[in-house]
Amino acid sequence: MILPWHETLWNDIAGRREKLPHALLLHGQRGTGKAAFAKLLANALLCESPSFEGKACGKCLACGWMNSGTHPDFHLVQPETDDAEAATAEPAGDEKEKEKKQKHITILQVRELISSVSLSAGRGGMRVVVVRPAETMNVNAANALLKTLEEPPPRTLFILVSHQPQKLPPTVRSRCLKIAMPMPTREQAIQWLKEQGVSEPEICLAQAGFAPLLALELNEPEYREKRLAFLDQIADTQRNDPLALAERVEKEKTELAWILNWLQTWVYDLESARMAGAVRYHPDFFDKISQLANIPEVSKLLEYQHELTKARRAVNHPLNMRLVLEQLLLSYWQTMKRRPHHG
Ligand SMILES: [Zn+2]
Repeated sequence: MILPWHETLWNDIAGRREKLPHALLLHGQRGTGKAAFAKLLANALLCESPSFEGKACGKCLACGWMNSGTHPDFHLVQPETDDAEAATAEPAGDEKEKEKKQKHITILQVRELISSVSLSAGRGGMRVVVVRPAETMNVNAANALLKTLEEPPPRTLFILVSHQPQKLPPTVRSRCLKIAMPMPTREQAIQWLKEQGVSEPEICLAQAGFAPLLALELNEPEYREKRLAFLDQIADTQRNDPLALAERVEKEKTELAWILNWLQTWVYDLESARMAGAVRYHPDFFDKISQLANIPEVSKLLEYQHELTKARRAVNHPLNMRLVLEQLLLSYWQTMKRRPHHG
């Protein structure tokens, strides 16, 4: 299904399927359906009897292969998954090992891709390669891909998908037709989430920075429970037991990325409540956030925000999750300490 906010773009691209360049760069906000769009486009290009509007038929042999993930002319390149790593990791302590693994697309993956693209005869049709998220290619991988983009194999379309295209080498970017992926309007996003059975679409959407596919993930009961439990804790600035909280969230295996996101959006909301009397990400905590907004000094809050940004950069390979958590939570309560009254 083409997402409603992609329809115009779809018609535009499907309308010139014969004239597409050999590389596209789909860029735009995370969680808005870029990868889904890339997959649908690949499917449509490989389908043996596409509809008049350029959509895949869903019935031919090629569509069957696409649906089962076995089409020989479709190549998906993405960072190695945790599943693959878990299979090879030592049985003891594998959780920690998994966390330490960096999530990059490696030169080995790109080399394998290039050799299979040049080996596969193609079924007389097209070959489609999707690289996502493209910015996770390390320098060597990007350079290897660049060579292929400079001398592309015939009838092959590369689709790079990225929410941080500025992290790609300019040489790679310049070889692609850049397509800015549209965002849905708020109404479109809420309507779509309702259709997916989300009961509190407004809250999920705000949480997800208005990215509907991300919001859909955030609708999972496990996520919702953990978020509420965590925010209840940090809303209670009198409690001040960061070490116990760090221990608890680690025991419950709450993802560090989630926690960082909650803290960052919480701080954003504190600032926003102070400056504008409004919150963006946690509307269900509006009252509490408004009460807390005037406690921290602005400079302290900014410092803390900086600390969170730094932690965020290392989120895929934290050396010690517990230590990172403890430090961040200690700083939080330090930041939120009530100043003594002067006169
Ligand atoms: Zn088909």
